[in-house]
Amino acid sequence: MGKIDIKSMTMEQLGTFIKELGEPPFRAKQVFEWFHKGVTSFDEMTNLSKMTREKLDNVAYISYPKIKNKLVSKIDGTVKYLYEMLDGECVETVVMEYNHGTSICVSTEVGCKMGCAFCASTIGGLVRRLSAGEIADQIIFSQKDLGKRIDSVVLMGIGEPLDNFENVVTFLKNINDKNGLNIGMRHISLSTCGVVPKIYELAKLNLPITLSISLHATDNEKRDQIMPINHKYPIEELLSACKEYIKITGRRISFEYAVISGVNDSISDAAKLCKLLKGMLSHVNVIPVNEVRERGFVKPDRKRIDEFVNYINKQGISATVRRKLGGDINASCGQLRRQSLKKEVIE
Ligand code: SAH
Repeated sequence: MGKIDIKSMTMEQLGTFIKELGEPPFRAKQVFEWFHKGVTSFDEMTNLSKMTREKLDNVAYISYPKIKNKLVSKIDGTVKYLYEMLDGECVETVVMEYNHGTSICVSTEVGCKMGCAFCASTIGGLVRRLSAGEIADQIIFSQKDLGKRIDSVVLMGIGEPLDNFENVVTFLKNINDKNGLNIGMRHISLSTCGVVPKIYELAKLNLPITLSISLHATDNEKRDQIMPINHKYPIEELLSACKEYIKITGRRISFEYAVISGVNDSISDAAKLCKLLKGMLSHVNVIPVNEVRERGFVKPDRKRIDEFVNYINKQGISATVRRKLGGDINASCGQLRRQSLKKEVIE
């Protein structure tokens, strides 16, 4: 294409870019505001002169996705989008309603290279990373389609956010910007499988977002089996990074724990989990594993899950079971993209 991806610039970069084009500084703010209204061409930026629009169009392009599929849950109104980007690659985005507002779960990569044994997103490996603009587009175009404001964001869709660090940080800053979507950092959660050096890097930025750690096992032997990243960064190193993160940011870390029947759901697992997290500013999110057809893991029954959570709470560590939304539309990420890939192979 040769043109520059203007939507993935930070406000600062955009300012410099606009200046170099010989335009006054306030143009940067105008252009940035338009991006967040979901325009797909410079021609729609009606407060810019035709000449300025042409100048921009000659050197830059605006990324935007197409809604390839949209499913709405009849149970709770959860909406799941399959967005197709300019190069034809697809990612999933889920919009959920909570009492405290509307939340969106965005993808950060097309596919994933992390190889977690229970996860649908990683089955075909990593295709490519998303640009900062493409991550933001999932929010911008969902808001546009639904006609309502999105209040909070979780980076828990397809991909590993810390494997796409620079683009993710630009995305966080851009959606937080007053001239952009103006989403408060406190309304953003980033989930990682445990890319330790990047946790330290993120801590240094001291953004008041919530960090979620996908823990899922309480000893290295088990975690090695279900999460290959653990070979590189074992539990002790991961928890040291978490402690540093808490020290710098003062923020509570949320630990994700997908309970899998017969794998990590015993009371002895719960006890080991408590020992690991003792004294840490933490919360445990217990998630009944979502049974992905290709993966063969089974979720424990409700009684076992309740026993697991009650045990943790009794030890003085806060834990809750995550409510399942969009059960009828396969709302957990990775599965819709896979179905669409399979269909294309068959057709
Ligand atoms: N790569 C990041 C974010 C994407 S996954 C991470 O690993 O945290 C978002 C969350 O869903 C993670 O906690 C992940 O471990 C979890 N997850 C993936 N597949 C799942 C499944 N089948 N059942 C339950 N949780 C799952």
